[in-house]
Amino acid sequence: MEINWLFEVGKRKEKIIKETQDFLRISSVLDESTSTEDAPFGEGIARALTYLLQKGEQNDFLVKNVDGFAGIIEYGKGNESVGILCHLDVVPAGEGWTSPPFAADIRDGRIYARGAIDNKGPTMAAFFALSIVKELNLELHKRVRMILGTDEESNWRCVDHYFKHEEMPTIGFAPDADFPIIHAEKGITDVSFLWGVKKDDEVGMLFLSAFEAGERFNMVPELARATIKGESSLLKELEKNFQKHLLDLGHTGKTEMSGGELHLSYDGVSAHGSTPENGLNAGTYLAHFLAKDNFQQAANDYLQFIVKHCDFDGGDYK
Ligand SMILES: [Zn+2]
Repeated sequence: MEINWLFEVGKRKEKIIKETQDFLRISSVLDESTSTEDAPFGEGIARALTYLLQKGEQNDFLVKNVDGFAGIIEYGKGNESVGILCHLDVVPAGEGWTSPPFAADIRDGRIYARGAIDNKGPTMAAFFALSIVKELNLELHKRVRMILGTDEESNWRCVDHYFKHEEMPTIGFAPDADFPIIHAEKGITDVSFLWGVKKDDEVGMLFLSAFEAGERFNMVPELARATIKGESSLLKELEKNFQKHLLDLGHTGKTEMSGGELHLSYDGVSAHGSTPENGLNAGTYLAHFLAKDNFQQAANDYLQFIVKHCDFDGGDYK
């Protein structure tokens, strides 16, 4: 049987849009001030979960509320299952909206709401896709199970609870944010390294008194700065080398000599932490440049650590 999926979706367009708007109008932000035994993450999230589970019931899907932590909507037969991992909670709305964040206004063919893309819109898309499969009486050899998370944006207590009590799907995907699916997410680690500085370490021809780069853990630094003290002839030489280094690499930056200190700044290109190859890490580039010189021991250790262990973006360091 050949199915024109676009046509099937088109037939249901108005209903899909209206119910997606209804769903988006529920402010499903974590609010533990309204949490109860049945609604561990607060009233809004509970309402969103109920809304979707009721829709599941209306469609004669197998439906289960997993203690208010998660929900299951399932269709099909078979030992194996396909998990569709969705989440109903959204991050707080924040400021600066053109239309109210939970109004779900439509402008230029788009629905604007907190959660429209992450992740209530894709959740509804998955739900309606499953509904269409059912309405067309298509035979499924696996159970398709929507797993509805409710604490994804905060502490993942929803899936912790779910997997303690419910089955792990055989295979699965998460239609979260980008169309059509995200099948995996990269790990993220936020780490702070601390170096002890001993007094007698503070010897060297040059003294690195400050080094900073980046605004957030999950962004490629677009600017790095260093402050260096030392004999003025050495600083002048370093300044000259820096300018030549920038020219050689086709990069930009600034130097400034003031109060017996040399200030260097290196221009990078910002990018999201998940795609460092799209950016230019000002911090690692500046560290690689400075690591060729000899500073106090603590600074040498610090710079060498970056050079050896912090090649985040496969930069072409010279
Ligand atoms: Zn998400």
